[in-house]
Amino acid sequence: MNQITGHTRFGGLLGSPVSHSISPAMHNMAFRERGIDWVYLAFDVTPDRLGETLKVFRELNVFGFNVTMPDKQSVMEYLDEVSAAARMIGAVNTIVNRDGRLTGHNTDGYGFSESVREKGFEFAGAEMTILGAGGAGRAAAVQAALDGVKKLHIANRRTRSWKAAGELAEQISRMTDCEADLTDLDDRTALAQKIDASSLLVNATPVGMAAQSGKSPLPDPDLLREGLTVMDLIYDPARTRLLEDARRAGCRTFNGMYMLLWQGAEAFRLWTGQEMPVEKIRRSFFAGPEDQREDPV
Ligand code: NAP
Repeated sequence: MNQITGHTRFGGLLGSPVSHSISPAMHNMAFRERGIDWVYLAFDVTPDRLGETLKVFRELNVFGFNVTMPDKQSVMEYLDEVSAAARMIGAVNTIVNRDGRLTGHNTDGYGFSESVREKGFEFAGAEMTILGAGGAGRAAAVQAALDGVKKLHIANRRTRSWKAAGELAEQISRMTDCEADLTDLDDRTALAQKIDASSLLVNATPVGMAAQSGKSPLPDPDLLREGLTVMDLIYDPARTRLLEDARRAGCRTFNGMYMLLWQGAEAFRLWTGQEMPVEKIRRSFFAGPEDQREDPV
């Protein structure tokens, strides 16, 4: 347990539900390891109560917050400032409080790119396909472009987020050195061309988890080939159908477990100005069986 004193500052996680999150355990251990007299709690807050909640917390010298679903978009209107990357992504997952001024950031993109980079993948000059353009997909796409991906293919179905995905591709092409385009996820021929040209394929749809567990976001496993690196942002289950198919096809595979670790590390750095003890946190909370087995079987 962290020692609570008269000086202890607090902050934590805003969203609903939040009780399943490992962020409190992760950050409290990191504060303890670094000798920082802060505690991290989880607050179940729905979007309709966000404004009044932040108004009160702002007065109470909080260090900041993480923000999760369903508050990531709605929180932006209550902040004094939003970073350029978070604005392009259209979502905030970290808030920093400096003397009552709240600034929103998005560390999901950093978490994505750091977790891919530590597997030895080089973004500079690469071509990549990403399936899905919701909150997580947008963060990964923007960060990959900022990190030097040359061509980015966003594949989405023609539903809810199709228009916004097109606008994202246009914005990335205009504001970074990356050429981004949008493909219909249900157009098998077009999708095959994009994946063939890519060295990295990322699943940012929820297909493969919960009710859709056992399903793949790809229409056909033949779209996978040896030499392709495949990342699934899903980490529960640790091995999705897509990752199983990819391993069978000889791809290098990994899941989104360490994305979670690295987005937390970046939030910790933004709040404290210090590095999170990443290896200790990794050993304590991210060392589950099969979590990161990555080599083709
Ligand atoms: P989201 O905002 O709801 O976006 C989901 C995206 O997938 C949208 O583009 C959506 O398109 C598409 N999609 C949904 N169902 C689909 C289906 N049946 N077939 C094809 N496309 C479908 O969700 P999110 O927050 O970005 O999360 C996406 C995934 O990433 C989830 O599995 C989540 O657990 C994971 N994630 C992982 C991390 C991590 O740290 N590893 C962090 C955040 C999220 P429509 O708009 O048309 O529905």
